[in-house]
Amino acid sequence: MEKSFMPAFQTREELEAYQLEGLKWTVNHACRGSAFYKKKFEETGVTPDDIKTLDDLKRLPFVTAQDLQDNYPWPLLSAPMKEIVRLHASSGTTGKRKVMFYTAKDIDDWANMFARCYEIAGLSREDRVQICVGYGVWTAGAGFQLGCERFGAFAIPAGPGNLDMQMQFLIDFQPTVICATASMGLLMAEEVDKRGLRDKINVKKVIFGAERSNDAMTGKIKELMGAEHTFDIPGLTELYGPGTGLDCIHHTGIHYWADYYIMELLDPDTLEPVREGEVGEMVYTTLRKEGAPLIRYRSRDLTRAIAGTCPCGSILPRHDKLLGRSDDMFIIRGVNVYPGHIDEILARQAGIGSEYQIHLKRGDDGKDYMTVNVERDEGGDPNRDAKLAKKIETEIRKGVLVSGKVEIVEYHALPRTDRKSKRVFDSRD
Ligand code: ZN
Repeated sequence: MEKSFMPAFQTREELEAYQLEGLKWTVNHACRGSAFYKKKFEETGVTPDDIKTLDDLKRLPFVTAQDLQDNYPWPLLSAPMKEIVRLHASSGTTGKRKVMFYTAKDIDDWANMFARCYEIAGLSREDRVQICVGYGVWTAGAGFQLGCERFGAFAIPAGPGNLDMQMQFLIDFQPTVICATASMGLLMAEEVDKRGLRDKINVKKVIFGAERSNDAMTGKIKELMGAEHTFDIPGLTELYGPGTGLDCIHHTGIHYWADYYIMELLDPDTLEPVREGEVGEMVYTTLRKEGAPLIRYRSRDLTRAIAGTCPCGSILPRHDKLLGRSDDMFIIRGVNVYPGHIDEILARQAGIGSEYQIHLKRGDDGKDYMTVNVERDEGGDPNRDAKLAKKIETEIRKGVLVSGKVEIVEYHALPRTDRKSKRVFDSRD
């Protein structure tokens, strides 16, 4: 049997005991090693000794992206420089970059976490992995590479772009796995198709990083490459980088590595935990990170927890794919609504296109009203609009727990942009 990178625990109780130990260690370590954390704790009036149960996590102050910027270039540094072996940074302009520091143990932990991703995706050491993401100061290339070597598969560090070389490698080295952004994956798939290479290559799995894929993209990539599975790897520079969780081959949600970090799902407005199954902001606390530990770091990313047990039997908890950013949230009739959530509901409906707009208005009665404009599918029958609108209204009410009116508009009636489309139009004062 091949070496496993999964945790040895069998039960949730064992996992929680391990988390508590890690939490106590992290708070002590951060308080001792970082002037930033020490000051934060003092301001809040908590000391490391106050952490006696996992529930005490709630007593700790939050860390935000603003804190990282304010303390540039050495934010969250909690270990002596002689122990730091590397930095990585997110893309962004000077001063806006999020810089993170790694000890040798952090790099080792990250490699194990990422190796676990390849394991849960069902790879073996026989697999050959063409890594087509960027190498450099950001975490993508380094993470995919480290994990692949730790796992023991064959890594081909191709980097992004250079389609001629990519195609050559696909034929000459017969990689079984491609790691790329969704856009790069699509470019490669189209190139394979254009050159008629499908029968000459052997790609079984595609792992996307750095950029969310959508169903249309993944469908196309699978079809053109003849791949069986695609996976979306979550990745946040602040939390090591990519490789902190992945869906298994049952694709029932992303298993995340709860023995390395705790993920709280909080209402971005009240900062209280959301009810089970509700959408909340992912707030991270690392359990072993030495160089730049995170304590209640507000990522602004939104998702929901997935209850129950996966058919694969793993005790590692699951969360849904990312559903957008909390900055995009709006409140209507006391309910938090995220455009990403509406987006997801619409994506499941047949007969409509991918463009939509959400309009919020205050009525003469003083109440708030939401209207969602959705495009009819290309060539769709206008006579079905009323029925379709009713159906989508029901789905929205069930999904986001607030009623809205759905108006079906002509195909191509809504504006297109190659930048981020504006989705929410709020005319309430
Ligand atoms: Zn599973």
